[in-house]
Amino acid sequence: MVQILNKIDDVLHCPRCDLKLSRTNVVVGSGPINAKIMLIGEAPGKNEDKQGQPFVGAAGRNLNELLEEAGIDRKDVYITNIVKCRPPENRPPFDYEVEACHPYLQKQIEVIGPKGIVLLGKTAAETMLGRKVEMGKEHGTVVEKDGHRYLITYHPAAMIYKRTLKDTLVEDYKKISALLAE
Ligand code: SF4
Repeated sequence: MVQILNKIDDVLHCPRCDLKLSRTNVVVGSGPINAKIMLIGEAPGKNEDKQGQPFVGAAGRNLNELLEEAGIDRKDVYITNIVKCRPPENRPPFDYEVEACHPYLQKQIEVIGPKGIVLLGKTAAETMLGRKVEMGKEHGTVVEKDGHRYLITYHPAAMIYKRTLKDTLVEDYKKISALLAE
């Protein structure tokens, strides 16, 4: 994947936005290049920045737990984020950072051609759907846009602060299999 993205730029040395100043590693994504399901989060956190891999910290452990409960093997899905570099103090990425990074994500979607895309949290959902998303009302729904099918759900980090959300998230994640079945 890095080689493919390097065709549009040298992603590992990307200078396109100021997140280049605070990153340790560019976190491109992980998973098979022919994955049927793609998961998109917000941005790398501290552990992801250190290791250069997405979802390897506390949110990653929640993600693993949710995927397992939904009967999905993490090895079968491609996981990435809206921006590939960690924002300072884990703040949400600014609009111009999202915009600067978007060509990489578009290329990933084009190359992988997933059957369904799972939007993990508000930043991912609002960026990909191009509108405001009310997570409390819209989580668990499938939306079609520009030839892609998106499942909206909470970011797995939400479970760190509110463990009671787990059952809700498990129900959402079970719909990932439905995305594949159709
Ligand atoms: S966040 Fe994206 S656009 Fe910004 S420096 Fe990193 S790879 Fe480049």
